[in-house]
Amino acid sequence: MINIKTPEEIELMRESALIVSRTLGIIASEIKPGVTTLFLDKLAEEFIRDQGAEPGFLGLYDFPNTLCMSPNSQIVHGIPNDTPLKEGDIISVDCGALKNGFYGDHAYTFEVGEIAEETKKLLQITKESLYIGIREFRAGNRVGDVGYAIQNYTENHGYGVVRELVGHGLGKVMHEEPEMPNYGRRGRGKKFKEGMVVAIEPMINMGTQRINQLKDGWTILTADGKPSAHFEHDIAIVKGKPELLSTFQYIYDALGIVSNEEEEFRR
Ligand code: MG
Ligand code: MG
Repeated sequence: MINIKTPEEIELMRESALIVSRTLGIIASEIKPGVTTLFLDKLAEEFIRDQGAEPGFLGLYDFPNTLCMSPNSQIVHGIPNDTPLKEGDIISVDCGALKNGFYGDHAYTFEVGEIAEETKKLLQITKESLYIGIREFRAGNRVGDVGYAIQNYTENHGYGVVRELVGHGLGKVMHEEPEMPNYGRRGRGKKFKEGMVVAIEPMINMGTQRINQLKDGWTILTADGKPSAHFEHDIAIVKGKPELLSTFQYIYDALGIVSNEEEEFRR
């Protein structure tokens, strides 16, 4: 069953999403060569608790930390550790927060120092595909419209779209219906309605779409060892149109990036 949110519930969800957004902003200003993912994880946990919220991932399905930290060929669900980040790495940071009974959940792939041109391109195209997908999340469209748009755009660049992991409805439960795959067929799947809230999260590989899992039972990585990118936003349908609850603006402020990519999805 798909849970439709009232306007009041959507405002509470915006609050949870913005806590995650601000957490990622703090992480953004700390990411540099030599920093460990475990240090960033502690920083995130402290900030989230300071906001009167709880880390959304810690303990969820028994995940051991606040952030999923997935460097380079790791796609998602990487566990923070004491290995320092190094120049040229990319690091996908996924964060969840729970406040007032509602979850926020979004992700960003960061550059560590200077990265290779072809990796920069992967990040850019993956982020663009997120907005291309979000544009299709409107009343009357269907799950397959979002998936098709993301798949079509990224595969045209020669990238692999991960099949085993998908976006999802979001609310009082981290993973609600509907599943939101990053691949699909136009006009297929569940229909979108006013008041739906989802997390859209393309996971795009530079090479093969195939994945492996580490023996830790969590970390998902590319089968060919090439890099993978992950960007995620929380979006509600308001007045028939997609409205962003999360924002990357805190990240951009920290990194000195100027962008108007979110403008069309604001009230
Ligand atoms: Mg996430
Ligand atoms: Mg998610």
